[in-house]
Amino acid sequence: MPEPRSLDWAQRLIRIDSTSRISNRPVIDLIAAEATRLGLDPQLCPNPDGTKANLLITVPAADGTRSGGVILSGHSDCVPVDGQDWTSDPFTPEVRDGKLYGRGSADMKGYLGVLVTLLPDMIAARLTEPIHLAISYDEEPGCVGGEQIVRDIAERGLAPRAAVIGEPSMMRVITGHKSVTMGVATVRGRAAHSSLTNQGVNAIEYAARLIGFLREIGVSWRTEGPFDEGYEVMYSTIGTNLIHGGIVVNTVPQDCTFEFDFRTIPAVDMYATMDRIRAKAAELEAEMQAVDPATFLRIEARVQVPGLGTDPDADVVALAHRLGGIPSTDQVTYGTEAGQFSRAGMPAVVCGPGDIQVAHRADEFVPLEQLVAAEEFVLSLIAELS
Ligand SMILES: [Zn+2]
Repeated sequence: MPEPRSLDWAQRLIRIDSTSRISNRPVIDLIAAEATRLGLDPQLCPNPDGTKANLLITVPAADGTRSGGVILSGHSDCVPVDGQDWTSDPFTPEVRDGKLYGRGSADMKGYLGVLVTLLPDMIAARLTEPIHLAISYDEEPGCVGGEQIVRDIAERGLAPRAAVIGEPSMMRVITGHKSVTMGVATVRGRAAHSSLTNQGVNAIEYAARLIGFLREIGVSWRTEGPFDEGYEVMYSTIGTNLIHGGIVVNTVPQDCTFEFDFRTIPAVDMYATMDRIRAKAAELEAEMQAVDPATFLRIEARVQVPGLGTDPDADVVALAHRLGGIPSTDQVTYGTEAGQFSRAGMPAVVCGPGDIQVAHRADEFVPLEQLVAAEEFVLSLIAELS
């Protein structure tokens, strides 16, 4: 088995703990320093409170052109290892049986290692079009950095014609995934003795009515569609998965909060779905406020990641196939930043080394042959653009 050139860089990145709850700066600072050493001009794009940042690196075309071209993207944060039973230390990368073990080896430091390793090849190639690296923060908590990075890219006028998101797909070219929305509902009613229901506004009961409405949406999706056969679950789904409310059985509850999650196929707009939920909440709130104007029912979206529905005939798909990505009609079950790129006008596919099945788990690994395949993919891109 060929030794991947990128093994050393992948290991350096795995050694840095970049769990989403801490800063990603040590990872991107290291990569930015390498880009600077190579004579490039890395762009750090800090998050609103300055604790984390996205990183953009452009390898310009030989004539100096910095806009257009192809963007290769990955995230720098990882999920926690808390409570997981690892065979070896998650932050001490280890090669065993042709696999590189460590937190983020598949998701996505192996891929980032490939990108950094091949920067000198990109520079030496005298490109006809630029290649951009986009490395984000806080993908794991809900593609937070991705939402910003598509703006960072637009602000710098980079305008790539295609984007490849290197999330683990075993190098299959993935054109679709569902949107992800996670929302929280906060119901403030009015407390009263349980014998005086006429004086109270029961927060749990109003919450239950809204939860019932969410369930109706879910049942109609499941029974009436729309359906998309590319997905394992062929329809959009919704559920209320967490609830808190009330203090004691003989008091009309003042407070109730609950959290819900919905995932839509491309035919169902997640923003329009959120609007439907908000409209129902407003209707219930009006009823509550007729009793007491201080009551309310608020809906907040914590996470909204757009779905991906790239046309299988799009140029970016043909490009990824030419570069060695494995053609596939599978849609994936996980959300990625690809939907954000796509929505921002950058046609996108997911294609990267490693298997999503082992990501987020104890003993996460990436097969070395997958890193080699990712290297070949990027080297093919360099050849195509030079
Ligand atoms: Zn990931």
